[in-house]
Amino acid sequence: MKFTPEKPPLTGETLDTLTEKLRAGGEPAFRAQQILAWLYKKRVRSWDEMTNLSKPLRTWLAGAFDLMPATLVLNQQSEDVTDKLLLELGDRSLIETVIIRAPQEGVGVEHSRKTICISTQVGCAMGCVFCASGLAGLKRDLSAGEIVAQLLQVCYREDARTPRARMELASFDNIVVMGMGEPLANYDALLRALTIVNAEWGLGVGARRITISTSGLVPQILKLAGEELGFRLAVSLHGATDEVREKIMPVNRAFPLARLLPAVRAFSERHGRMVTLEFILIAEVNDSLPQAEKLRDIARDLHAHVNLIPYNTVAGLPWKRPSLTRQERFADVLRAARISVTLRREKGHDIDAACGQLRLKTEKDRVLATG
Ligand code: SAH
Ligand code: SF4
Repeated sequence: MKFTPEKPPLTGETLDTLTEKLRAGGEPAFRAQQILAWLYKKRVRSWDEMTNLSKPLRTWLAGAFDLMPATLVLNQQSEDVTDKLLLELGDRSLIETVIIRAPQEGVGVEHSRKTICISTQVGCAMGCVFCASGLAGLKRDLSAGEIVAQLLQVCYREDARTPRARMELASFDNIVVMGMGEPLANYDALLRALTIVNAEWGLGVGARRITISTSGLVPQILKLAGEELGFRLAVSLHGATDEVREKIMPVNRAFPLARLLPAVRAFSERHGRMVTLEFILIAEVNDSLPQAEKLRDIARDLHAHVNLIPYNTVAGLPWKRPSLTRQERFADVLRAARISVTLRREKGHDIDAACGQLRLKTEKDRVLATG
């Protein structure tokens, strides 16, 4: 299903496209810079706050653009570590954006490092059997403006917590494209959104601070490798052999390891930095020692970082996370080979990997509420 909003979101415009539209309306080129500064630097939330624009221009803009295509409907906080924003779009679709705070010693939580996890689709078509986001299939792609809007909503939230952060650049350190959806299946909107996020006139976040996570769409990984902006790449491996991977990730049939791994290598070589291999540990599925050994070999070969993520149970699905002992035993195989590896432990972090579940629950409540 495609959604065409009544008015295009302002958050989907680049400096060039906005300049062009204003020019067509008889406005000088510098107006676009002014408008985007109000939006991204001063982060005003209404046209009337754009005080250096004439009243007729503000009226024209209000008729031509939607200033913010996402509304905050729910904010779920967990122990001051994760903040989940549930956002509603123009067609009532729900998406999730997560703020993950990594507290640092000696400073208040408002100064902690922040990683923002954003979504790129409503639902997902990839059908990984363990994942909440894909349970109901794909509803639609997000537009570039809807992707950028998630980050502005995070800024609004942060500005409300620490008003002094306003006027500064976006107050977060890293962006991970690991929310709902397969980012590389919505390639053009993703790239346009990240161009806006990266730009000086936009949110000004460096490409190195942006990680795109993919289930392994080979042609798009190769295309991304050729882009000028050097984003970081994370690949959801979750199986170290075709046999295991195929059971849980249908994408492996189209792009088996023999095709995926060379593409990951090509990406890594092009950008000269480590790729991350994500590996969810699911009991009795991929947590055996032979899987650990295969993963070790792959990581060594690709000079990749491995992120082990104990599985988060999803209501209605049978999968479980392995015991702590089994998790450690798996990680030890990699550590022994001096592979760069992290095993996720921190409290509150479970909420982010389980992205997609808040939306699912709210959708269910809605269905109940409307009979
Ligand atoms: N579609 C992309 C990005 C979104 S999913 C991808 O698959 O990479 C982000 C990460 O969360 C992926 O590694 C995904 O496999 C993982 N994930 C999904 N469901 C999970 C769960 N229940 N527990 C832990 N990790 C999960
Ligand atoms: Fe889609 Fe990623 Fe979930 Fe797989 S793990 S269904 S690709 S969101």
